[in-house]
Amino acid sequence: MGYHIENITVVTWDNDELRIIKNATVETEGNKITYVGGNKNDGSKGEGKVGIDGTGKVLIPGLVNAHTHVPMTLMRSYADDLDLHTWLFDHIFKIEDRLTDEDVYWGSLLGMMEMIAGGTTCFNDMYYFVDRIAEATAESGMRALLSRGLTNNEDKDDYSDDYRIKEAVETFKKWHGAMNDRIRVAFAPHAIYTCAPKYIRAIRNTAEKFGTCIHVHVDETLKEHNDSLNQFGKTPVRHLYDLGLFDLPTIAAHCVHVTEQDMELMKEKSVSFVHNPGSNLKLGSGIAPVPEALRKGLNVALGTDGASSNNNLNMWEEMNLAALIHKGVRRDPLAVRAEEAFKMATVNGAKALGFNNVGQIKEGFVADMVILNFSKPHYLPEHNPVSNLAYSAQASDVETVFVDGRILYDKGEYKTLDTEKILYNVNKVCQRLFG
Ligand SMILES: [Zn+2]
Repeated sequence: MGYHIENITVVTWDNDELRIIKNATVETEGNKITYVGGNKNDGSKGEGKVGIDGTGKVLIPGLVNAHTHVPMTLMRSYADDLDLHTWLFDHIFKIEDRLTDEDVYWGSLLGMMEMIAGGTTCFNDMYYFVDRIAEATAESGMRALLSRGLTNNEDKDDYSDDYRIKEAVETFKKWHGAMNDRIRVAFAPHAIYTCAPKYIRAIRNTAEKFGTCIHVHVDETLKEHNDSLNQFGKTPVRHLYDLGLFDLPTIAAHCVHVTEQDMELMKEKSVSFVHNPGSNLKLGSGIAPVPEALRKGLNVALGTDGASSNNNLNMWEEMNLAALIHKGVRRDPLAVRAEEAFKMATVNGAKALGFNNVGQIKEGFVADMVILNFSKPHYLPEHNPVSNLAYSAQASDVETVFVDGRILYDKGEYKTLDTEKILYNVNKVCQRLFG
């Protein structure tokens, strides 16, 4: 079983090279992309495959949301226009104390509905009740790297009785590599202000034992940065570097206040830098030094963060912000180019998450792909399809979404999710939590 898509414009990164192929043919077989190129001219019309006419359409790799907390859709528009610490400690943690695993399951499915319809095929999540997030991911057909956010400020030598780490290990054993490797599991010390240094080291050692990667919030606010200087005499990045965390493949979210030296350390350890422009702007945290990170050759990916600090899971807005805000604040139209923003949202995200055969339209890669309708007025005339992706595209232009070779969404119709049931249950959950 596969698909034969013809007459389409392919826009993809091929590792570090941008490729735009007009009038292309793309074929899939099973979960893989088996052909990408011009018309085949061998008479083959993709016998036995389902044909899709791509006239007026563009095919791109599925978007990778490299930092989010999907179940936080439940808290969308609940506590807005606050700084991170007030928002988190006075509002969000209080609701989170009352969340059940069932709430997290329905909140996750709501987030997945939103992500799929907007062309996001893969995401990197940090939350709790991760078994239920994994269950929702398995059902939705999406690809994800999941982790249990670990917090413990108690300073001690032995954390072998820590119930959170135990849960994280159970989740790892149950879900890592599940669903034909669509689901993987990382370990996630939440942040330096919610984890004692020895706790971070214990998590690091657990992740090393299981051979998986790390997902962590890093240097999100000036308060975190200055508290770190006062408490440890070093920046958050240096603190984590000295704890050995970056010896493992690490996804560092935010990095708003990292210094030049911090970025050198991140480069040395191949730490991925996740830019979350929408959330950082909304919480008033600042603007990450993305142009410097790019020039240093760091792998910069893109994320929405949770829907209650954004307030959506729309990667098109993040791409647009990433391509615009740095130009404005630096008065430099080359600060982040359109194709760099598109690269962050696709191949760089896949690399950050360790999904090395994801994020490119390329033979042998898994078929995680999105078809956009480029015949709408805001795309015309089409001088430059990459500019259109970064500056003009809307989530509502997404027409067809494939993950692992399977269509999850087509022309407004969800193929894997019972949307009525999800919306009914989300409503019920919110009545209990906020009613
Ligand atoms: Zn976050």
